[in-house]
Amino acid sequence: MKRFLVALLLVASLFGLPANADAADKVKAVASFSILGDMVKQVGGDRVELVTLVGPDGDAHVFDPTPADAKTLANAQILFVNGLGFEGWMDRLAKSSGFTGKTVVASNGVKPLTMVEEEGGKEEEIADPHAWQDLANGKIYVANIRDGLIAIDPEGKEIYEANAANYLNEIGVMEDAVKAAFAKLPPARRKIITSHDAFGYFGAAYGLEVIAPEGVSTEAEASAKDVAKIIRQVKDEHIPAVFMENIADHRLLDQIARETGAKIGGTLYSDALSGPDGPAPTYLDMFKNNVGALTTALSS
Ligand SMILES: [Zn+2]
Repeated sequence: MKRFLVALLLVASLFGLPANADAADKVKAVASFSILGDMVKQVGGDRVELVTLVGPDGDAHVFDPTPADAKTLANAQILFVNGLGFEGWMDRLAKSSGFTGKTVVASNGVKPLTMVEEEGGKEEEIADPHAWQDLANGKIYVANIRDGLIAIDPEGKEIYEANAANYLNEIGVMEDAVKAAFAKLPPARRKIITSHDAFGYFGAAYGLEVIAPEGVSTEAEASAKDVAKIIRQVKDEHIPAVFMENIADHRLLDQIARETGAKIGGTLYSDALSGPDGPAPTYLDMFKNNVGALTTALSS
């Protein structure tokens, strides 16, 4: 009986039936930005053919989709977005493309941090979209990705569950390592400046105070008054280091470093991964790079 079953499976795989998904059978998925794209790859593995709209070192706050992006989305079965107001351009793109697949909001279930931003002279409370910068939230993203893939491809359930379980385990290991690394830093030195406010969740999770001239979106520019205030704050509070971001212009930070004597601590990957040959080609590499840069600059 067993031998018969094996023979049957062999025949089935010869005829390309169920055993292994080839390109035509793969789930066509789109992810809005590179960090989320990596997470989808880790969970989806070979069963998923993924296109990422905002690639390495790209700024998803201000992305301008092309007609080719609309076409990609029109052919997709599932779309992964961050949510929390991160991809302001997505609704229009999804509508204009005629996308009829399933949308998974990866941050669903995250407890959002909010902040007050000044918009055209009036203050409003907005959600901070950078939830992936806390690995505990990263686990929520992975669970949402897994469940979304199972919903549209139930045959892959076991594979998605196994991939997600492995990945959640790796994220847990990284989480312990990050907490251990920060626990060694003297509390008085746990303060940094970055260009835009992408590390609110990171700071809350790992005990780091992050000051940013630009707010939670790169769309808003810092005013001269904001910059003067930060320069004063860096001097008064002896903030030891200023960090560049892979997605942002660093002239303003150069100026702050110059005027305050704070050192430039390196580059943090905030809203995008690096290319494959850079220091942060995956979500977990991004943490490794960022934590390495932060602890090196803040411990000495
Ligand atoms: Zn951002």
